[in-house]
Amino acid sequence: MASRNEQQWEHSRDNKAMRQVRKQIKHNRQPKQARQKNWLPANWDDPDAFYDLDVSLVERVMPRGERERRQAVLSAALQALKEEPDEDEDDAEELWQVEDVPASHGVVVEVSSSLCRVDLDGRSLVCALRGSLSAEETGYTNVVAVGDEVVVSANGSDQGVVERVLPRRSVLARPDVFRSHLQQVIVANADQLLIVAAWRDPLIWPELIDRYLITARRNNLTPVICVNKIDLAESVAACRAKLQPYLDLGYRVVFASALNGQGIGELRKALRGQTTVLAGMSGVGKSSLLTAVQPGLQLRVSEVNEDSGEGRHTTTQVTMLKLDMGGFVVDTPGIREFGLSGLRRDELAGFYPEITSAAAGCRFGDCSHIHEPGCAVKSAVQQGRLSAMRYHSYQKIYHTLPGRR
Ligand code: GDP
Ligand code: ZN
Repeated sequence: MASRNEQQWEHSRDNKAMRQVRKQIKHNRQPKQARQKNWLPANWDDPDAFYDLDVSLVERVMPRGERERRQAVLSAALQALKEEPDEDEDDAEELWQVEDVPASHGVVVEVSSSLCRVDLDGRSLVCALRGSLSAEETGYTNVVAVGDEVVVSANGSDQGVVERVLPRRSVLARPDVFRSHLQQVIVANADQLLIVAAWRDPLIWPELIDRYLITARRNNLTPVICVNKIDLAESVAACRAKLQPYLDLGYRVVFASALNGQGIGELRKALRGQTTVLAGMSGVGKSSLLTAVQPGLQLRVSEVNEDSGEGRHTTTQVTMLKLDMGGFVVDTPGIREFGLSGLRRDELAGFYPEITSAAAGCRFGDCSHIHEPGCAVKSAVQQGRLSAMRYHSYQKIYHTLPGRR
């Protein structure tokens, strides 16, 4: 066992060696001068300007082969260090971690066709993708998605290169527009789906809540229901009564008003430290709620203007906002359309736990609970043991789905 002094000496020797390695890397780098110093357009918000970028300029941030070259230099230096006797295993472990010194871990917060924006410990970097990254054989058509955790190499400026995409914990995906046998990842690593409904204006719509609940289940997201605009209700008790079927099923329901601040503390609690995907039709108060949760937080995505039909339909539509209290909120207007894609009629009841348990008493094993005689689900509804509101939404969604294969 080395004495404390010896250990300190070992540390300082290793640190010194590593400083030399880094210096050598810097010295050898000789970066080419970028043709254009600030290649990012001033009008970054304009998607057209975004696409017009000359990506080859971005590649200059880290010349081709630079990472491999750095690794070779590091490996050689580390090998030399290893050859000296070193009994302290902790030190050895620490040394091997320096492989990641030129790169850092970040989270993708915005994606365009060939670039993405990465949040790196609160710094915002615009990154190109390393050419060797490929979505081939992954079953997905895109390499990176919003929410992806990535290894990025950056040269200290606000530009970088995504070197690696770390394994995903969850994936919210939809069939690719052009290659429907493949999936497009919309959001990676999301934890929960915040289903926002308004008590009134627009009137609360249980069928849509149910559709989102199904989407959440299918994508392994924990659903949280938020009923906004409760200032427009006669009483909170009336809201609770309406939402009772959901409370009975154990779903978390937040009753809120962005207008008077009711429930905002609870909403904050639900969002803290989580990556939350926002769902809910236009006008229910999603932007207002976010502003109430964190002043200044703004959904960047402008909705399509229903009168003129104008709006942004670009790949930059998925946006991830960072919360000061920890966590992210993801806004993706497309979620409503793709939530139930590929779902068949006979699979629907499986997403209604109360229908599934009542169905045990149906006369026919494959009862659809729509038209069959001896349907235990229908009698449960008639006897008030099963929510008529939930059963009606089941019926409505059933008729929108394709039959058996
Ligand atoms: P979004 O489309 O879901 O983002 O909805 P907005 O946040 O833009 O809100 C739509 C409209 O509802 C706006 O006119 C808001 O002022 C209004 N609104 C939002 N939250 C509340 C609320 O809690 N109570 C009332 N009465 N109005 C609200
Ligand atoms: Zn039945």
